[in-house]
Amino acid sequence: MEQLEILKQWIKESRHMVFFGGAGVSTESGIPDFRSADGLYSQHFDYPPESIISHSFFLENPAYFYRFYREKMLPLGFSPNIVHNKLAQWERAGKLDAVITQNIDGLHQKAGSQRVYELHGSVLRNYCTKCRKFYPAEFIKNSAGVPKCDCGGIIKPDVVLYEESLDSDVLEKSIRAIRSADLLIVAGTSLTVYPAAGLLHYYRGNRLALINRDATPLDSCANLVINESLGAVFEAL
Ligand SMILES: [Zn+2]
Repeated sequence: MEQLEILKQWIKESRHMVFFGGAGVSTESGIPDFRSADGLYSQHFDYPPESIISHSFFLENPAYFYRFYREKMLPLGFSPNIVHNKLAQWERAGKLDAVITQNIDGLHQKAGSQRVYELHGSVLRNYCTKCRKFYPAEFIKNSAGVPKCDCGGIIKPDVVLYEESLDSDVLEKSIRAIRSADLLIVAGTSLTVYPAAGLLHYYRGNRLALINRDATPLDSCANLVINESLGAVFEAL
């Protein structure tokens, strides 16, 4: 495939690659996308995911929030896939500046990546809303109802909920990385979730590669589009 050869060449020549990934990166590890309202989902829950994982819902009905969260958003025990592993390898080789991700499962770090900007936070970090004490994901998994701190405060995952703003430090670092990237690979995202599409506009180079199974609204802005499964593409790189 011609596009794949071009991408290979770009990666070979790149010294400041940046990877921007969405849910498609995690689904390659078998982690289901919690936003997809499948049949099973609608049988189990009375509200759409966008409502349950919002800031106001968390405050009003934390027990219901945690019921959804434990079942749908706490993907523990999964392993990094070829995408995570290749990216970590490129970082070690000094070719990749940063991974920017919309995923919250921590698999990039598990694969060995150091500079990972998690736009939507991480399920691996949890804090008491009262005293800020840290709790690991296993604590949330093994607790029942609303997980509480020793001090009595409610524990909240360090995940960006609907109605909440992104961490400005993470956002700033992401923009800086994208601005100075010589190659920007965007993959596994439909580019409809805020702020993905907006961030891409900070890229100033002419090597923007989009890898997604389906077409995205930004295909026309890309210099290279590959509509293939992400895992298959990375196997070939
Ligand atoms: Zn506390």
